[in-house]
Amino acid sequence: MTKIFYDEKICVRCLACVNESEFDGVTYERERIIIDDTKPEDWENICAICPVAAISIWNWEFGIRNYKSESYKL
Ligand code: SF4
Repeated sequence: MTKIFYDEKICVRCLACVNESEFDGVTYERERIIIDDTKPEDWENICAICPVAAISIWNWEFGIRNYKSESYKL
């Protein structure tokens, strides 16, 4: 199981994650980023393109990680 965490406070609304989303896992509605981690996105990729690490991945194997953390691997 993979869970996605999104930190609205550090998000700069660049919309890179929205543009990268293929299955509406990340959408932009009413000036807010909406994450639906039940969608079969390439979450590793979406997490990696965020310029401020506002999106993190959690799973049982690795715990929390984002592209700035040492444990992050593509
Ligand atoms: S890529 Fe990161 S900073 Fe850009 S809109 Fe998505 S969450 Fe926000």
